[in-house]
Amino acid sequence: MTDTHASLSKSAPTPSAPDLVTVSGLQKSFGDNHVLRGIDFTVPSGSVTTIIGPSGSGKTTILRCLNALDVPDAGEITIGDGAVDFSARPVPRTLLKRYQAQSGMVFQGHNLFPHKTVIENILEGPLIVQKRGRDELVVEAEELLRQVGLAEKRDQYPHQLSGGQQQRVGIARALALKPLLMLFDEPTSALDPELVGEVLEVMRDLATQGWTMVVVTHEIRFAQKVANQVLFADGGTVLEKGTPAEVIGNPKHARTKQFLRRLL
Ligand code: ADP
Repeated sequence: MTDTHASLSKSAPTPSAPDLVTVSGLQKSFGDNHVLRGIDFTVPSGSVTTIIGPSGSGKTTILRCLNALDVPDAGEITIGDGAVDFSARPVPRTLLKRYQAQSGMVFQGHNLFPHKTVIENILEGPLIVQKRGRDELVVEAEELLRQVGLAEKRDQYPHQLSGGQQQRVGIARALALKPLLMLFDEPTSALDPELVGEVLEVMRDLATQGWTMVVVTHEIRFAQKVANQVLFADGGTVLEKGTPAEVIGNPKHARTKQFLRRLL
C-alpha cells in the first residue's frame, strides 16, 4: 500500500473526489456473443463500486477488461493518468503491460502456488515484477499478513489453511504489488458460508483504509454497507447505477427489482 493509501480514511470519497477510473463505450464480444454492449462508468478515487446482476450479464468480463485479462474490442479506459483507447488496435504490448500493472485482481478461487509457503506466495510477484530487495519485501509481506489477520500462518502451505484463509492470502498477494485499483471477482462465492464473513471483513478494512475497489459480488448486504456506488449489469449493459440506497433500496428498473427480489 502506498503512503497515500495509508493516510486516507474512509470519509472519502466526497462528491469532489477525482475519478481514478473512467470507462467509456466498453465493448467486448466472444465470437458471436456480444457480451459488453457499451459500458460507461466512473470510479472516484478511494471509493468502492460493486457490480451486481444476473449470471451471464457480463460482470466478470467488465472486471477482466479493467485488468486487460480480456482485451476490450472497443472503448476507452482510464486508470489513474493512463488512458488506453482499445478502439485503436492493436494496443502496444508495453502500454498493455503498464495498464495491467495498475490493478490487482482477486479471483473466486485463490490460485495460490501450492508448493510455496504463504509468505513466498506473497513475495513471488514483487520479487519478479518489481525487482526490489528481498529483505524490504519480506517486511512489507509480513505487514500485509498482519493486515489480513494471518501473521502466524507465514510459513505454512496453502493446503494447511482454510478456504477463507487462502482467500485472505490471495488478497495480500494482490496488495503486495501496490496497485492503484483492487478488483475482486466474486471473492467469496466459492467459500463455505461460515468462511465468507472473514473475507468480507478484510475487504471492509481495505475500503476503510481508502483503497479504490471494484467488486463483483452477490453479497448484497456487503454492497449495501460498504459500497459507495452500485452498478446493476444486465444483458451487457449497465442498466442502473447509483448509491446502494438508490439501486438496492429504491431500484427503478423492473429487471433490477426482479433480480433483488430473488436475493433479498
Ligand atoms: P457474469 O460475470 O455476469 O456471470 P460473464 O462476464 O462471466 O458474466 O459472462 C458473460 C458472457 O460471456 C457469458 O455468456 C459467457 O459465457 C461469455 N464469456 C465470458 N468469458 C468468455 C470466454 N473467455 N470465452 C467465451 N465466452 C465467454
